[in-house]
This record gives sequence, structure tokens and C-alpha cells, in this order.
Amino acid sequence: MRREPFAGSFGKNRVMKNINLNASSGIEKIECFLFDMDGTLYLGNDRLDGALELINLLKSQGKRTLYITNNSSKVASEYVKKLSGMGISAEIDDFFTSADAIVYMLNKIKPGAKLYVVGTPGFENFLVEKGFSLVKGYTQDPALVPDFVVLGFDTTLTYDKLRIMCDYLVDGVRYVATHPDMVCPAEGHRSVPDAGSFMLLIEGATGRKPEIIAGKPNPTMINILCEKLGYEKDKVAVVGDRLNTDIMSGVNAGCKTVCVLTGETSLKLLSESDVSPDYVFDSVKDIYEALKG
Ligand SMILES: [Mg+2]
Repeated sequence: MRREPFAGSFGKNRVMKNINLNASSGIEKIECFLFDMDGTLYLGNDRLDGALELINLLKSQGKRTLYITNNSSKVASEYVKKLSGMGISAEIDDFFTSADAIVYMLNKIKPGAKLYVVGTPGFENFLVEKGFSLVKGYTQDPALVPDFVVLGFDTTLTYDKLRIMCDYLVDGVRYVATHPDMVCPAEGHRSVPDAGSFMLLIEGATGRKPEIIAGKPNPTMINILCEKLGYEKDKVAVVGDRLNTDIMSGVNAGCKTVCVLTGETSLKLLSESDVSPDYVFDSVKDIYEALKG
């Protein structure tokens, strides 16, 4: 079942396109790989076959390996720990999350803004570290009313938080969100509701949609990284399992795109979709096989 927002058209009468599965011509020219993690390198807490081998191979070839994720419930240090628990060594600076992207975008509008946050304690602490102040509870005191409501992936969501968020949105407070994913990938094809699902609930209650969604398919994370590290877009590839977030972020940024079929996207879904990645591999193991020469 398709559960991503911003999906392309998936009409029944669409012509199935040919997919050159595991074709790798030109992929060796990529200098910087931006990996999605859930569904690409691991599923839940299980490392996917070939993930460690591919990361080690790329490093040994002098390529840059970075990780971009829409999941705002964890900060970079938590991802360092998670990957290292799977044997993949990485530094804090190797990660860029939708939380980083929303901070970048909020700083462009109003640095130090007052925020009402629907997110995890880790996300809240991160925003405070970045100079924002948090509004707790509901108020109509003009000096204390938040400048923005910020919606993230909140695994600590409560009905109180939802009520207060809706009250602020009905009052007209500006509304931004970290990412649009409907579900968080999980073992056994379970549906773990993510920020995109919360958005639909909020929209149902208030009629409001976020004015900014910072994470993929928004290309902001990729653009910031390319500018910071000085890579030309045609030497950068996004590797991910979701067409309408991972692959579309690469398309929107103008870099190369690599889809793996270990997460959300199946060959059938891909063949019917308007979204066409530059490369399609069964898994990261097949990218490894292609690149090891
Ligand atoms: Mg994924």
C-alpha cells in the first residue's frame, strides 16, 4: 500500500517502464554517497547484508560517505552510536538530519525564535542547543506565544501535546515540520506512524498544513552538504529506499540517485512510478559487488 504524501501518479493504465536492475555504468565516478539509513543500510536494528562491506569499500576508495535521514527523533550522536553498534564507524559530522535542516531554515526566518515543539526530548534539546527557546503549554499572552509550531517524529506524543498544537494552529501560529514520511520503517512490515501521519491528523482537526517541510524530498539537506563540502552535484549520489523522499530529494537537488529495493520500494512500484532513479540495485550488497571491481 502506498502511504507516502506527495506521491507521483500511479494510474492503472500506466506503461510499465523497463528497469535496468543492478546496472552500474558510471557509478564509479561518484565521489560522495549520501545514504538514507532505515530500509537502506539497516531495518530497525538489523544491519542489511552488504552495508558494512559497501561503506568500508567506499572509504578505502577515498569516497565520502555521509548519512542523511528524515528521522528527527534521534540526533547525530545517537546515530553514531546506532551505526557503531552495527560495526559501522562514523563521526557526528557525517550525519545530517531533518532536524538540522529545519534549524537551518528557521534560522533564515527568525534565529532564536520561540517554538512550540511536538517532538522527542532529544529533538527539543537539540533546538535549545541551537539557540531557540521552547514554549511549554498553551498561552495567549502575546509576549509568550510561540513564533512557530514545529512538528517532528514524536515517539513521546501525548493527547495534550496534540490539543495544544491544534490550539496554536487555530490561533494562526506559523507551522513547520521536519519531514513528510507517513511511517517509519520497521521489521515485519509493521506501520509505525511517523510525522506525515501526524500531519494528516492535524490537518483534519485544523485545516492547516505546514508551510515548510524541511526533510527529503526537500533538497535542502543535500544542497547544504554539497556547498559545505564543495562537491559538484554530478559527483554526488543519494542512496535510498523511498522514491518520493530519498530519490526525489536527489532529483530536486540535481544529483545522481540510487534506489535500493530493501525497504519500501518494490520493482513493481518502481516500474509504475513517474520517479526514475539513475540506478536501481536489489540491495547495498549489489552496489558493493558493482564497485569492488
Ligand atoms: Mg529509508
